[in-house]
Amino acid sequence: MNRRKTFSNILAGLTGLALACSALAQDKVLNIYSARHYPTDEALYGDFTKATGIQIRRVDADDAGILARLRAEGTASPADVILLVDAARLWRAEVDGLFRPIKSSALENAIPAQLRAKASAEGTAWFGLSTRARLIVFNKSRWNAGDADTYEKLADPKFKAQLCIRSGSHPYNLSLFGAMTEHLGPAKTEAWLKGLVANMGRSPKGGDTDQIKAVAAGECTVAVSNSYYLARLMRSDSAADKAVVEKIGVVFPNQASWGTHMNIAGGAVARHAKNVDNAVRFLEYLASPSAQNHFANGNNEWPVAKGVSLDNPALKAMSGGSFKSELIATSIVGMNQVKVQQMLDRVGFK
Ligand code: FE
Repeated sequence: MNRRKTFSNILAGLTGLALACSALAQDKVLNIYSARHYPTDEALYGDFTKATGIQIRRVDADDAGILARLRAEGTASPADVILLVDAARLWRAEVDGLFRPIKSSALENAIPAQLRAKASAEGTAWFGLSTRARLIVFNKSRWNAGDADTYEKLADPKFKAQLCIRSGSHPYNLSLFGAMTEHLGPAKTEAWLKGLVANMGRSPKGGDTDQIKAVAAGECTVAVSNSYYLARLMRSDSAADKAVVEKIGVVFPNQASWGTHMNIAGGAVARHAKNVDNAVRFLEYLASPSAQNHFANGNNEWPVAKGVSLDNPALKAMSGGSFKSELIATSIVGMNQVKVQQMLDRVGFK
């Protein structure tokens, strides 16, 4: 009897220990689905684990792949945090109910209202964590000052067969075109897109860095690129990259009107997150000055948190320190995307 009691006590103790261990294991993990494709982010994740002991398990995919995966997994999804790199995709995921709104005064205090989802009674669905400008880059030897100081001018017939740009359906372009639709109206935007197609020096292919290199190589005179790709080349030690940068000039478009189009990378807690506290803690960490500085220095993005100053020589050099950026509601850019895709199909923008 006694022995049996002892045995059952031990068993109960072991079971309790196992439960405690599994609770502890749960307490110390965070599952992230990330569309951030930047090797420099490793340090960002590593620092969080070092500070908190929370182990990060990461799944990397692009924005569309992550959203498809979340839809397919439903309530069984292990995802706790979602990191996306496009404003309209963040908006789409919110509308589709893939995020769990949260309340965090640290995040609300750090991140300006226009760079996060509109708060509901439940909380805020996503938070912008960094911004990137969509720029015009040009070949200096074939350029006259002021040739194209606006996005509109990229459709000017004088650039016939001289424009390099990635696919129109890429989120960076869909968001730019969604913003243009808001500024110009659909009819003028479609005419503008038709002008871009007429000006293409080649069929859209490759990423933004490929467009910059094509301009340096003389295949095109002008191209469109996100700021961090250019900054990466500017900070590169490679002689080939230095030679590219040597030939390139940059324009922050639309300074005299609505400002340069800015896209955001942002984060959210997944709708079916199991480690909600860790997820909130991670997002708060990403808005902290040290993580924000990492966005600026590691991946050459502009920090979003209030009071974090920019400490990045390439971004300072290309922008001259300050510039006018577009202020437009992310929801509008998102809502325009279906319209934009239809326009792209009509004008034959691949
Ligand atoms: Fe990118």
